[in-house]
Amino acid sequence: MNSKKSRLIRILLFCALFTLPQTYAQKGYSKSAIRKQKQAVSANVDQRHKETQVMVDKVFSFAELGFHEVETSKYLTGILQKAGFEITSGVSGIPTAWFARWSNGEGPVIALGSDVDCIPKASQYPGVAFHKPIVEGAPGHGEGHNSGVPLNITAALAVQELMKENNIGGTLVIWPGIAEELLGSKAWFVRDGLFKGVDMCIFTHVSSNLAVSWGQATGTGLISVEYSFEGEAAHSAGSPWRGRSALDAAELMNVGWNYKREHLHPLKRSHSIFTDAGDQPNVVPSKASIWFYLRDVTYEGIMEMYEDANHIAQGAALMTDTEVTSRVVGAAWPRHFNKVIAETMYANIQQVGLPEWSEADQELARAVQKVVNSKDSTGLATELSELRKPVERPISGGSDDIGDVSWTIPTVTLRFPSNVPGLQGHHWSNAIAMATPIAHKGATAGAKVVAMTVMDFLTQPELLVQANDYFENVQKKETEYRPMISADDPPPIELNTAIMNEFRPQLEPLYFDETKYDSYLEQLGVTYPTLKEE
Ligand SMILES: [Zn+2]
Repeated sequence: MNSKKSRLIRILLFCALFTLPQTYAQKGYSKSAIRKQKQAVSANVDQRHKETQVMVDKVFSFAELGFHEVETSKYLTGILQKAGFEITSGVSGIPTAWFARWSNGEGPVIALGSDVDCIPKASQYPGVAFHKPIVEGAPGHGEGHNSGVPLNITAALAVQELMKENNIGGTLVIWPGIAEELLGSKAWFVRDGLFKGVDMCIFTHVSSNLAVSWGQATGTGLISVEYSFEGEAAHSAGSPWRGRSALDAAELMNVGWNYKREHLHPLKRSHSIFTDAGDQPNVVPSKASIWFYLRDVTYEGIMEMYEDANHIAQGAALMTDTEVTSRVVGAAWPRHFNKVIAETMYANIQQVGLPEWSEADQELARAVQKVVNSKDSTGLATELSELRKPVERPISGGSDDIGDVSWTIPTVTLRFPSNVPGLQGHHWSNAIAMATPIAHKGATAGAKVVAMTVMDFLTQPELLVQANDYFENVQKKETEYRPMISADDPPPIELNTAIMNEFRPQLEPLYFDETKYDSYLEQLGVTYPTLKEE
C-alpha cells in the first residue's frame, strides 16, 4: 500500500474512533473544552516568554551559515531532549540536520519546521539603527532565521504539557530547515522519506506581520546548479597559446546567459556568482566554476531554464576547448499551501492579534526604515494582514524549499511579526530587530498561533481529513511532484566551510551567556533603542 493511501486510512480510522459515542469526543472534546484547552495553551506560551527570548537571543549569537549550524543544532536539540523528545541526528547525510519526535500515543502526527541558518556578511548589533557589525565581515542573522525554531519549540512544549494533562493522543515532530539560504536540505528530507507517516506540517517564517496564505504562494521555485569547466594551465605570458582557459569558459557562459536573460519571461529570475575564477593572473586557469540560481513560478519553467543553461554551458566549453560538468546543489519547488490548515490557523491569528509594541520598539523600527530609505516609514505593523488567498496571476520573487514539503504532506507557512516591515532582505538591517523585544514578542505571538492550531488538529480529527482532501483532490489534481534532485545527488555540505572556519573563532567569545545576562542586548551593552551613532 502506498503511503498516501495508508495515511488516509489511518486518518479515517482515527476519525471513526473519535466519532464513536462514549469515546474521546464526549470525554472532553466538546467545543467549549477545545476553547478552554486553546486558552490554556496560549497562556502556557505566555508563561514561556522568557525561555523563548533566551532561545531567540542564543541562536542569534551563534550566527551560523548553512550546513554549519553546529552550535544551533546542539543547543536546540538539547532543549528538546530534556523535554523527552527523541532526536535523530545527521539525517539525509547532513551533520547539522535532525528530527525530534515526542509521542503521546495514537493520534495525528504533526510536524513543526523552521529554518536556522544565517546570511554571509550580515553581522550586526541588535537594537541599533545603523550599520554596526558585531564582527566585521562575519555572517549574521540578516534573514531572521534565529527566531523560527525557538517559536516552534515554545509552541511544542506548551502543547506537550496540555497533551499530558488532558491525555490527548498524537505525535509532535520538530525539524529544522538546514541551509535554507542554499535551498539545500528540504528536498533531500523529502527524497529520504523523513515525512513518511507525518500527517501535516506547520512551517514558520519570520516576517513583519502575523499571516498565512493558501494555494500557490507568491514567489518562485528554483534549481541551483554549479557549472565547472576544466582546461589546461600554461604560463600566461611565456606560452599562453598552450593554455585553454576554464575561466574564459565560465565568463562566456555568464555572457551567454546574460544575452538569454533578455528573452526570459518576466516571472523568471536568475542570478550567478563565480565560485572559482582561477588563482593568479600569470597562470592560465585550468579550473573555473560559476553557480546559478534559476527561478520560475512553475516546475516546468524551472526545468526549461535548466536545459537552456546546460546548452549555454556546452557552447562555452566548445568555444574554449574546455570540458564542462555540472552539479545540482539546491532545489525548491514552487510552494502550495493547504486551504484547511490556513483557514483554521487564520481564526487563531485573529484571536491572538499582533503584539503590543512599546514606543521603544516603534522608534527603532522607524529609524531602521529611514536608514535603508524604505518606502515604509510607519514602523511596526499594528493591523493584521488578511488571510491571503491564491493570487489570480502568479507573482515572481524568492523561493523556499518548504515547497517540496508542501507537495509531500498538507503544509502551511505561518509568517510571524519578529521583524521590521519594508526592509530589503538578506541584509544587515534585517538583523537589527532579531535579538530585541520586537523579535521576542513576535515569536511569542507566533507560538500561540502554532500551539492553538496544533490543538485544533489534535482534538478535531475531521479537520485533518478535510486538509487531506484538499491536498489530494484539489492541490495535486493537476500537478505531479517530481523531485529536481536525483536519487543520489549528495547534499552540498562542504559549502560555507571556509567562511565559518574564518569567523567562528571570533564569534565564539560573543555567544549569548544567559547565565550571566538577562538578554543579548545587555551582554553587548546596547541601550535599547540606540537610534544614532555617537
Ligand atoms: Zn528565510
